Amino acid sequence: MYDFLIVGAGLYGAVFAHEAKKKGKKCLVIDRRNHTGGNIYNEQIEGINVHKYGAHIFHTNDKMIWDYVNNLVEFNRYTNSPLAIFEGQLYNLPFNMNTFHKLWDIKTPDEAIAIIEKQVKESGITNPSNLEEQAISLVGTDIYHKLIKGYTEKQWGRKATELPAFIIKRLPLRFTYDNNYFNDKYQGIPIGGYNKITEKLLEGIDIRTNVDFFKERDELSTLASKIVFTGNIDEYYGFKYGKLEYRSLQFENEILDTDNYQGNAVVNYTEAEVPYTRIIEHKHFEFGNQKKTVITKEYPVEWQVGMEAYYPMNDEKNNKLFKKYKDLSLKETNTIFGGRLAEYKYYDMHQVIGAALAKCKKLFTEETC
Ligand code: UDP
Repeated sequence: MYDFLIVGAGLYGAVFAHEAKKKGKKCLVIDRRNHTGGNIYNEQIEGINVHKYGAHIFHTNDKMIWDYVNNLVEFNRYTNSPLAIFEGQLYNLPFNMNTFHKLWDIKTPDEAIAIIEKQVKESGITNPSNLEEQAISLVGTDIYHKLIKGYTEKQWGRKATELPAFIIKRLPLRFTYDNNYFNDKYQGIPIGGYNKITEKLLEGIDIRTNVDFFKERDELSTLASKIVFTGNIDEYYGFKYGKLEYRSLQFENEILDTDNYQGNAVVNYTEAEVPYTRIIEHKHFEFGNQKKTVITKEYPVEWQVGMEAYYPMNDEKNNKLFKKYKDLSLKETNTIFGGRLAEYKYYDMHQVIGAALAKCKKLFTEETC
C-alpha cells in the first residue's frame, strides 16, 4: 500500500516524507505522540508558542539548508544571546568580551587573552582528553568553574572528567563584544512557530498519531515496502546488546501574570546547587507582546525506558555499543535509520535536515540509475 512507513514524525521523518512525496512515493508517517513535529513541536499557551520539548533555535551555515527551510516558512531575526547566572551575578554567553569584562573588569582582547593563557598554562593541560580538560584549555579555570562545570555536570549527570571533549566545542569563544551564541551565518525562529514547518513538510501525507510502532510492529510492517525508522536504534533491536544511555529532561511550565519575567529567552543557571539548568521565557523567541508570559524550568534527568530520550551520551562506552547496533542496521535491506535517536548523534536541526536530504538524494538517485 505504501512505499515507506516512516516511524517518527519528527524533523527527519517529515523531511524524508516530503522529499519522497516529491518523487511520487507514497508514505505513511506514524508517531506514538498525539502530535507530529517530534521535539520541535510548539504548544500554544496564552497565545505563546511554547517549545514543549526544549528550546529550539534554528541556525546553519549552509545556504542550501537555510533556503530549504525558508521555502517552507518565513523566519524572524531572533539571535540567541543567552545569559548565565552564577551566584547571583549575570554573565553573557557565549564566552566573549562582555563575559571577560564582567569577570575580570578588563576591556581589551589582549588583556582577556593574557588572563586565559596564564590560567591555561598554570593548569598544565597540554593534551585534553575529557570535557574538563578541554574546557580549561580553551577558556581557563575561572570560566570553567563559574560557567561550565556546574551546568555541564547537571546537564549530563556525570563528572566533567568523564564526559567527551567534543560537547564543549559546540560553544564559541570569541574576543569581540558579540553575544551571538552561534557562529553560523543564518539564524532565526519560524514566524508563527515550528509547527508551521512540520505542517508544510507533511502536507498531503498520510499521518497516524498515537500509534506505537513496537506495539503493532508486525501489522504496520506489512503496510509498506520499506521502513524509515527514526526512534531509538537499541529499542528497534529489542535492546539485544544492552541499552544505550541517553539524557532526558523534565520541564516545569509556569504561566505568570507579568508580560516580561526575565527579559531574555534563555537564562542558564550554572551553579551545581540550582537543580535546573535553564529558564526559558518563550515569548521572547518571537518578540511576543502578550499580556502574560510562560516560563519553563529545565531539569535534566537520567533516561529510563519509557521516558523521552533527548541527548545521546556519546562517550566511549556508548559509542562502542552503538557501533554494534549500527553494524546490524547496515545489514538491513528494507529499513533506513535516521535522526538523532537512530543515528545516536547530538544533531542540531539543520544537521538532521541535511542528513535526511542526503539520504533521500542517495536513495532516489540510485533508484533512477
Ligand atoms: N555549557 C556550559 N554552560 C552553559 C551552557 C552550555 O557549560 O551555560 C556546556 C554544557 O556542557 C552543554 C554544552 O555546553 O552540554 C552544549 O551546550 P548547548 O547550549 O549547545 O546545549 P543544548 O542547547 O543542545 O542543550
